[in-house]
Amino acid sequence: MSGLDETHDPSRTSWVGSANGHPHFPVQNLPLGIFSAQGTGRRVGAAIGDFILDLLTVGSLLDEDWLDDLSHPVLNAWLARGPQDQRALRRRLSDLLSDEQHRDDVEAALLGQSEATMHLPCIVGDYTDFYVGIHHATNVGRQFRPDQPLLPNYKHVPIGYHGRASSVRASGEPVIRPNGQRKPPEAEEPVFGASRRLDYELELGLWIGRGNRLGEPIPIDQADEAIAGYCLLNDWSARDLQAWEYQPLGPFLAKNFLTSVSPWVVTAEALRPFRKAQPPRPAGDPQPLPYLQGGSAEPALDLTIEALISTEQMRARGLPPHRLSHGNASAAMYWTAAQIVAHHTVNGCNLQPGDLIGTGTLSTDSNDGLGSLLEISRGGKQPVTLPTGETRSFLEDGDELTLTARAERKGFVTIGFGECTGEVVGLA
Ligand code: CA
Repeated sequence: MSGLDETHDPSRTSWVGSANGHPHFPVQNLPLGIFSAQGTGRRVGAAIGDFILDLLTVGSLLDEDWLDDLSHPVLNAWLARGPQDQRALRRRLSDLLSDEQHRDDVEAALLGQSEATMHLPCIVGDYTDFYVGIHHATNVGRQFRPDQPLLPNYKHVPIGYHGRASSVRASGEPVIRPNGQRKPPEAEEPVFGASRRLDYELELGLWIGRGNRLGEPIPIDQADEAIAGYCLLNDWSARDLQAWEYQPLGPFLAKNFLTSVSPWVVTAEALRPFRKAQPPRPAGDPQPLPYLQGGSAEPALDLTIEALISTEQMRARGLPPHRLSHGNASAAMYWTAAQIVAHHTVNGCNLQPGDLIGTGTLSTDSNDGLGSLLEISRGGKQPVTLPTGETRSFLEDGDELTLTARAERKGFVTIGFGECTGEVVGLA
C-alpha cells in the first residue's frame, strides 16, 4: 500500500469533537463539497464531523496560489489541478483540524451541517454511465434473454452509454415519477402514463479531475490520477419505459429524468488505505486487451455499499429505514475505475474536469447484495416485504430511497460517503 502519510494515521484525532468516531467524516476523510447557508452564496467546504469548514474563511492559512480556484461556486477548477494539489490541500486541512495552533481562527470558520444546504459539487459537462456490475448485467439479461444473459462483448468491452448531464442533481432532489410510453406484454399497442415500475440503481460515481485533450487517450497507468474523487450515484430508472424503448439505441427517457449524487467528493487520496487488488477473473474468462491491462496493482476499492428504503407508513410509525441491500463494491465490479477511464478515452474522447462517470449498478452474487428492485423482486414477480407488512416490487410515491457507502479496513479509521437520498413524488 503506497502513498500513505500522517493524514491516514489512525491515531490522528481532531479537536472537532464530533469528528472522532464519526461514521462518515473523521479527520481521515475531509471530503470537499459546495454548500450555502443563510446569507452566503455557494462556497467550497470540507466536511469534518458534524461541521463544514468554510475554506475561503481560512484562506489566509492556505497556499495563496490555491485561492483563485477555491473561490468558485463549483469545484471544477480546483479538481482540474490534479492529484498533487489535492494531496497538499488535504494535508493542510488535516493539520489545521488536528493541531491546536490555529484553532481559534479555524473554529470560527466552522458551520453546522444542519444549517447548510449542499449542492452539486461541479458543473457536470458530461455524464457517462457504465455497466461494470457483472452480476447486475447477468440478472437483468436473464430476465430478457434466459438463454444468453450476458452478451458476447461483455467480458471484452467495458460497456457504457452517454447519459444526460443537465438532470444530475445533488442528494435530496425530489424524484418526480416520470410519464412515458410503456407496452405491457399482453397489450397490442403501447399506452401512455406515469411509470409503474420506478426503480433505483445503487452505483458509485467518479469525478474526473485533470482530464485529457481530444485525441489524447489516458493510458491505464495514468487513469487513476484522472479520478479526483468518488460519490454515490443513483441512476433512477423507469423499468417499463426502459423495456419498451431500449432497443435499438439504449436507455433514453427511462433514465434521463433525474440522476442523484451524494454531495461530498470523497477524494482518491482519502481512499488510499482502502485500495486492494482486483479479484481475479473466473477461470476461462478472456484476458482484457492490452490497453485494459496494467496500471496500479491495487485498482479496486474496499467499499461497503448499501441501499435503504423508508416508506411514508414507516416514517409515520417511527420505524427506521429498511435495508434492501448491502455488499462490497469491488465484488460487484468486473471492470475497475482505471479500466473505465482508459476505455472511455482510448478512441481519443476527451474527459473534462467535473465530468461524472457512473459505474453501473453494483450487485454482488448474493441475494443480500442486489442493487435494484428489478433484481430484488425478480422483475416484479417476488415483492419484498417491509417491516410494516407493506410490499414493494418497485417504488411507490412517498418512498424515500437512500444510498450509503463506507470504507473499512482493519488498522485504519473508517470513512464514509455520507448519503444520497431522494423521495418519490407523484405527478401533480
Ligand atoms: Ca445505471
